Amino acid sequence: MYPAPFRYHRPASLEAAIKLLDKLGEDAKPLAGGQTLIPMLKMRMGDVNDLIDIGRLPGLADIQMDDSEARIGALATHAQIAASTVVERLPVLRDCAGGIADAQIRARGTIGGSISTGDPSTDWAPCLHAVRAIVEIQGPAGKREVAIDDFIEDAYTTVLQGAELVTGIRIPLPPARSGGAYIGFKRSAPAYPTAAVGIQLSLDEGGVCVAARCVLSAVASTPVTSDAADAALVGTKVTEEDLRAAGELMIAGTNPPEDTRGSGEYKRSVLRGLFLQAGAKAVQRARGESIEGSHNYV
Ligand SMILES: Cc1cc2nc3c(=O)[nH]c(=O)nc-3n(C[C@H](O)[C@H](O)[C@H](O)COP(=O)(O)OP(=O)(O)OC[C@H]3O[C@@H](n4cnc5c(N)ncnc54)[C@H](O)[C@@H]3O)c2cc1C
Repeated sequence: MYPAPFRYHRPASLEAAIKLLDKLGEDAKPLAGGQTLIPMLKMRMGDVNDLIDIGRLPGLADIQMDDSEARIGALATHAQIAASTVVERLPVLRDCAGGIADAQIRARGTIGGSISTGDPSTDWAPCLHAVRAIVEIQGPAGKREVAIDDFIEDAYTTVLQGAELVTGIRIPLPPARSGGAYIGFKRSAPAYPTAAVGIQLSLDEGGVCVAARCVLSAVASTPVTSDAADAALVGTKVTEEDLRAAGELMIAGTNPPEDTRGSGEYKRSVLRGLFLQAGAKAVQRARGESIEGSHNYV
């Protein structure tokens, strides 16, 4: 189906884009990679009178890293992130970026667009929970920063107000002997995951876990985290038994909705397998091993 008619605008600066969004009101939408918005317009979902193309705004696709943090511009595509040097320090990001949909979507879709949808099945939001990312936002009232945990409030609902745009993502760099992994279980490449697990952890010199962040995804309206599960891994050697115990603290309490991807019980059993895999991979990476690979496919 063709989209309903809309007006197309391409402002030259971030400030001009925000001004235009503010002036045109709620029927105006920013367009980044268009990989979610354009299919929605073609299906005539939602009223959009004006599309504000932010896709070529200068500087917003930059990926940088210093001694303490990585910064990824909102317009960085999944493919650009997967090919960046940041993923050498944070391989969990490569797992996520490299496993999103197919090459065409990875070449166009952006990290800012992905988290701004608030879609409970997207890959970036849970991955960014695992690395405790901060979201940079700019709007008519100026700039603000929000922890990713607070950014997504409910399914398809974020803290973004009116003409606010996501401008970048900041990720604190983990200490030495840290590793992470993100694994989604997918029916095919261009399909959102049935369930996904992200784990980022740090070990001491003796291989004992000193910090952990675990996240489940696609099984609730927002990514699921648990301080109790994180704490259960700390002080352990992160054996299979330790992972099983920590995972169960999170998984037993989830109530994944039944849909075309499977029943709630099926998704819980998928999560159990993914949790063990992601935990083992995170530990191997924390020990300095180079482990490739991304999602599991049916
Ligand atoms: C067939 C298919 C399969 C897919 N599979 C997966 C998958 O497995 N995993 C996954 O994670 N994703 C998947 N996606 C989604 C893809 O990753 C998109 O990149 C992503 O959802 C949106 O990014 P975008 O840049 O294309 O955003 P757009 O489509 O341009 O915009 C999406 C929404 O975010 C808003 N927006 C965009 N940028 C900003 C910004 N900077 N600030 C504020 N609001 C903004 C737009 O107004 C719009 O409402 C899939 C998409 C398709 C079509």
